[in-house]
Amino acid sequence: MTLQNRRIPCATRVVLTTSAAMWLAACATSAPLDKTPAQAKPTETAAAPARSPKPTYGSFGVDTAGMDTSVAPGDNFYRFVNGTWHDKVEIPADRSSYGMFTTLAEEASRRTRALIEQSASANAPEGSEVRKLGDLFASFMDEAAIEAKGMAPLAPELGRIAAITNRKELAAALGDTLRADVDPLNTGHVNTDRLLGLWVSEDLNEPSRYAAYLLQGGLGLPDRDYYLVDNERFTEVRQKYQQHIATLLRLAGITDPEARAKRILELERDIARVHWTQVDTRDVLKANNPWPREELTRRAPGLDWDTYLGAAGLGQQREFIVWQPSAVTGIAKLVGGAPLQTWKDYLTFHAIERAAPFLPKAFVEENFAFNGRVLSGAQQLRERWKRGVDVTGGAMGEAIGKLYVEKYFPPEAKAEADKMVRNIIAAFDRRIDSLAWMSPETKKRAKEKLATLQVGIGHPARWRDYSELEIVRGDAYGNTERASRFEYQRNLRKLGKPVDRSEWFMVPQLVNALNSPQQNSIIFPAAILQPPFFDAHADPAVNYGGIGSVIGHEIVHSFDDVGAQFDARGKLENWWTQEDAAKFKAAGQALVAQYNAYRPLPDVSVNGELTLGENIADVAGLAIAHDAYRLSLGGQPAPVLDGFSGEQRFFLGFGQVWRNKYREPTLRRLLLTDGHSPGEYRASTVRNQDAWYEAFGAKPGQTLYLTPEQRVRVW
Ligand SMILES: [Zn+2]
Repeated sequence: MTLQNRRIPCATRVVLTTSAAMWLAACATSAPLDKTPAQAKPTETAAAPARSPKPTYGSFGVDTAGMDTSVAPGDNFYRFVNGTWHDKVEIPADRSSYGMFTTLAEEASRRTRALIEQSASANAPEGSEVRKLGDLFASFMDEAAIEAKGMAPLAPELGRIAAITNRKELAAALGDTLRADVDPLNTGHVNTDRLLGLWVSEDLNEPSRYAAYLLQGGLGLPDRDYYLVDNERFTEVRQKYQQHIATLLRLAGITDPEARAKRILELERDIARVHWTQVDTRDVLKANNPWPREELTRRAPGLDWDTYLGAAGLGQQREFIVWQPSAVTGIAKLVGGAPLQTWKDYLTFHAIERAAPFLPKAFVEENFAFNGRVLSGAQQLRERWKRGVDVTGGAMGEAIGKLYVEKYFPPEAKAEADKMVRNIIAAFDRRIDSLAWMSPETKKRAKEKLATLQVGIGHPARWRDYSELEIVRGDAYGNTERASRFEYQRNLRKLGKPVDRSEWFMVPQLVNALNSPQQNSIIFPAAILQPPFFDAHADPAVNYGGIGSVIGHEIVHSFDDVGAQFDARGKLENWWTQEDAAKFKAAGQALVAQYNAYRPLPDVSVNGELTLGENIADVAGLAIAHDAYRLSLGGQPAPVLDGFSGEQRFFLGFGQVWRNKYREPTLRRLLLTDGHSPGEYRASTVRNQDAWYEAFGAKPGQTLYLTPEQRVRVW
């Protein structure tokens, strides 16, 4: 699971159960976590160490000008750290949200553009990666050529769809669209607008081999609720979606667009009815359904599976793991039952929509008008070069990553980050020892898992090979289509081969981090190893609060409600004693209740169940980073800087990372589909840390105050 998400249910509210309350009471009596010296108090007068040159943010690594010290930290820690920034900053017109991650992502984008343009001007030999990068970008930027071609690049595909005369041909066309575009455990992407999504990854039951996972798909809107919930917002989105479908069909010269659009939306609504919720989709035990090939035909009739899988290049695959069986069954039934013409219209529309960013301006603008403005709330289309950077990165991410790392990720940064990761793993190891509630048996297994955790920093050890990818200068749509097939083939090739435990699921230029429960690995791309997360010139307290808590977060994913179900080898296996598992679950339920109580919009709460894994990772990751910070002081008091103690700066460094503003449609979408809570509530998890109360004097009666018994201590 990731640190934050770009794309990713409504569930019942969970109240604190009696057993949870009992567990919390027991937990509160556990031994103190560390025996390191008392933290520095603001009254200390030790001189600040020489820090030169200056950190990027403020005088010690925190943007103190962005704070709002008129707010009591105990009432709203997010605003205390970020209030002035939050009030002053406007979300750029081309953005649907804005914060620390986006600031850095924009910077990474500018750097990437420069790298690509250097590639384009390097006169690199035909077929070289650098040449391909340059050609890919240049093709997308050549708007005149794209206008001149009109619909021509898409004509062959639309022609094939129009020629479909029966269900067998329909199955072949649907199979041809299958891509490896979902990944429920690593990146957390579980939505695809193609009929189904394929994921090739370690077998949940035998991690030494790859399995082919099939996930539900077929929706153009972000989640089933958009189709099925009858509130004002979703009713409006549905109307606009129908108009959007009609507009794209009309632009493509398809007759009778209005009637077709209505039928397409109805078909998608039928698909939505059989879809699993996001919360159910997160449940890996429900998802572990190995079906021999024949079971698909037997249990999911309606789709001609032989033809579908054959067209998808999966004709030889003897077994699948079906993530949401009833959804796959329901979707297959619709393929056999809904009118053939509606399916053809559906395929036509989605082919046009996927191609829209690479077609003439009218398509680009309509695509933005719906997917940007209506669904995300952005006001303005992003500049073409930014989209070009994304397109190029989407097609050849690791080729850019290689250049990015050479230029922006010196070996010293890798060494520093590596040292910090080791410190934080060591702090977690000590923390496991001190857990009063966990039995020695479970501790032994947890420590064994921690000891085998694989760490990737900056970039993968081995780069992806793009030599088979054909890039044609001047063929913007063709390039993206070939890149998507290339990526699909790369995934198909894994089937039957030994598992590559060193594969990365993120590119180095991405501002994010990731845990792979099946690899038992954590990954920190180069782009996140920079200010404000990590700044070699900043105060160590701020670095521990920033990148330290990020590292802690990713480590803990191996031990969150999902990760804890995997053993050290990455096998889905219960290694917990029954009693320990029950206590762990109860603590999780307390966290579910804590987050369910947050209400970012008047009519929508945070979904505590959907965000549980991330919230566990946040709360425990912060605790571990804090342990590691104290250990790093080696028994010496931290200096006071600008009036802030080391302890305070640690939490300021943490709170600053989560500054973020959202446009309403995006916030609504994320609350429904994202496994991560909004930034404000991620910052608020400080309320579960005893040290935060000591550092800021939060007291009873203040909004964030929790009694020691109410504070959630998962690890
Ligand atoms: Zn995460």
